[in-house]
Amino acid sequence: MKCHALYADDPITPQTHCLIYAVPIHFSDPSTCMGCGTCQRKCPLKLPVAGLIKAAKHGTLVPIKIQKACIRCNACGYFCKAGIDTMRYIISQ
Ligand code: SF4
Ligand code: SF4
Repeated sequence: MKCHALYADDPITPQTHCLIYAVPIHFSDPSTCMGCGTCQRKCPLKLPVAGLIKAAKHGTLVPIKIQKACIRCNACGYFCKAGIDTMRYIISQ
C-alpha cells in the first residue's frame, strides 16, 4: 500500500482505500538539541545532521544538495535523545 498527501483536486477512485484527515505536523523544537552528534553518527550517509539542526536554530535552511542526498531512513531522528524530528528538518525546507 502506498500513501501520499491528498490535495483538493486529487481524484478519489475505486483504488483509493483510505482517507485520513490530519493537521500539519509541527516539528519538535531544534533549540532542545544537546549537540551530542548521535544523529550524524547514525546517518548511513554521514550527513552533517547535527550541524544542520544547530543551523536551524538560527533559521538557516538545509542546502538542496543535502535534501536530495538524504535517503529518508529516519535513523537520525530515531536516535535523537532530544526527540527532534531531524529528518523532517532535513527534507522539508
Ligand atoms: S541527536 Fe538530537 S540532540 Fe543530538 S546532535 Fe542530533 S539533533 Fe541534537
Ligand atoms: S533520514 Fe537522511 S539525514 Fe537522517 S539518517 Fe537517514 S539519510 Fe541521514
